[in-house]
Amino acid sequence: MIEPRGRRPTRQITVGDVKVGGGAPVSVQSMTTTKTADVNGTLAQIYVLAGAGADIVRVTCNDAEAAVALAQILPRSPVPIVADIHYQHRLALAALDAGVHCLRLNPGNIRNPVHVRAVAQEAKARGVPIRIGVNAGSLDKDIEDRLGITPEALVASAQRELGYFAEVGFEDVKISVKASSVPLMIEAYRQLAEVTDHPLHLGVTEAGPPPAGLIKATAGIATLLAEGIGDTIRYSLTADPVEEAKAGRQLLEALGLRERRSVDLIACPSCGRAEVDVIRVAQEAQEALAERNLPIQVAIMGCVVNGPGEARGADLGIAAGRGKGHLFVRGQVVRVVPEADMVTALVEEAERLVAEGAEARLAAADAGAAEEAERTRLALLADQGDDPNAVGQRVELIQKELRP
Ligand code: SF4
Repeated sequence: MIEPRGRRPTRQITVGDVKVGGGAPVSVQSMTTTKTADVNGTLAQIYVLAGAGADIVRVTCNDAEAAVALAQILPRSPVPIVADIHYQHRLALAALDAGVHCLRLNPGNIRNPVHVRAVAQEAKARGVPIRIGVNAGSLDKDIEDRLGITPEALVASAQRELGYFAEVGFEDVKISVKASSVPLMIEAYRQLAEVTDHPLHLGVTEAGPPPAGLIKATAGIATLLAEGIGDTIRYSLTADPVEEAKAGRQLLEALGLRERRSVDLIACPSCGRAEVDVIRVAQEAQEALAERNLPIQVAIMGCVVNGPGEARGADLGIAAGRGKGHLFVRGQVVRVVPEADMVTALVEEAERLVAEGAEARLAAADAGAAEEAERTRLALLADQGDDPNAVGQRVELIQKELRP
């Protein structure tokens, strides 16, 4: 397996019990959509987000009721909590009183340096980190007037806030420079990575609803992660926040930055050889495997002619042929089941594979399964020849049409 590119060296901060930066695993964040004053509703959502893959959850602290509720939420939360603060620095101080694990300040709307320093001083005294959350949509006015909405402006805003913090000796900081424009946020983070060693929180703000929002967020976050930039991430989707947590976790697993804990389902694109509706079987398998935390790669292949060979890198797979499903482990057929039982058999085998290991499952292969698969493969080849998509016929037709 190819290891991901080395991470950009950063200093480390600690949010509750989660390390961010300094070689720690890249963490996943999400944000609640409940009224924070609704303690039980907010806690219920935090639990669901943690279950879906969020390592850290942000809640808004937008009024006195929210700050009071924080004091009740924090001792019962399964993950560290970040309080999101806009405009009123007093709410940051109140969140610190509540015992919050981290603050997020938007430098574009808490502008008074006296207030910023007061919050940093208090956070320092309590050992609580702060995220400087710069947003292209709410930049400091003078910076925007001078530099426009540019990567340079986003970086300048973060640096000004860092300067205020430095005046009181506070360095326990992570930074985000988010924008809804993917090229803008990518360039801003690249520039920021050049001038600071603080850990970076990546995100494309207001990415919108899936699937376009997912694609935009992934384009921005994945590009930077692949360059070694980024220590914690958040998908900002117009969707149930569970989708944010799941997407974050899946992205990190796909990039090899976090250990796999859920199934990686791969499937062939289907072609003229397909012996089954691959899209339907893949969807059924995805649904059946979704809630099972099985850290393996599973392949759904449309035919036994090429399926087991093409997907021999997968831990487990199934390939269709003549009304049957051919289950294979690391490319070797171990069982043949009726087509109607393909998904059930696949799920059962996936669970046994995780419990017993590949060697044991290969040793327990049904006698004659590999031979039966080979017979079906040869019969299909004899029927379809080596051009089941009729490419040769089409080429002949084109040549005839174009003949002078
Ligand atoms: Fe799928 Fe078989 Fe076609 Fe490959 S040859 S794409 S496995 S149906």
